[in-house]
Amino acid sequence: MSESSAVIDLDRLDHTKFKSWPYSQDYCITCGLCASSCPASGIDGFDPRKLIRMISLGLEDAVVESRWPWICTMCAKCENVCPMEIDIADTVRNIRSLRERESVPGILHKGVTAALETGNNLRLPKEDFIFILEDVAEEIAEEPGFEGFRVAIDKKGANILTTIHNKLVNTHTEDLKHWWKIFHAAGEDWTVPSENWEGVSWGYFTGDDDAMKITAERIYGQMQKLEVKNLLWPE
Ligand code: SF4
Ligand code: SF4
Repeated sequence: MSESSAVIDLDRLDHTKFKSWPYSQDYCITCGLCASSCPASGIDGFDPRKLIRMISLGLEDAVVESRWPWICTMCAKCENVCPMEIDIADTVRNIRSLRERESVPGILHKGVTAALETGNNLRLPKEDFIFILEDVAEEIAEEPGFEGFRVAIDKKGANILTTIHNKLVNTHTEDLKHWWKIFHAAGEDWTVPSENWEGVSWGYFTGDDDAMKITAERIYGQMQKLEVKNLLWPE
């Protein structure tokens, strides 16, 4: 093979969908370090090196339609070891953003739609949300050392506004107690908004920037309305 024929002609590849990305998967040297560090390698034949190579070879439609980008957890272990500093997790998120919204796997897009329409992924009505929070607070108040404990909902001028992961008012209400007790022990002045309280942005995981923006703006809106300066957004 002559020296000139060994050079990849990048202009030959059709990168119409990926051209604007701020890094180049074409720098991949196929070393495999990403694949060996990835906790999801091997699931349905997935590994990040293959994914990056598919993009590099112009298999854009195939990669967007593939299940592989949805197997990745976007943990970024791979890019921490990549010698070419390819931003693999962000690449995966960009691939997800190219999927038709109705074809997003599982309940993720349904959750995004619910959050946009109702303020939370569960479509939980405001009165039910408040009932659950107050119920959990009553259980805490029955424990020694927490007599009189109350949950501060929509407290104006509190020091911290905290969002809520939807599972904490669904299947994991016990987990609410742990951090509320920490707030109590620390003497913290905190509050939970009664609307737009959702702390899980599935827009992030599905590559839906518009949904993420709306969710973030709503939370910021709650901070302004309640005149709270600090945000605890645990998810
Ligand atoms: S970001 Fe995705 S590809 Fe990279 S290590 Fe994590 S799961 Fe694997
Ligand atoms: S670690 Fe980086 S250079 Fe190595 S195979 Fe993975 S993406 Fe390519």
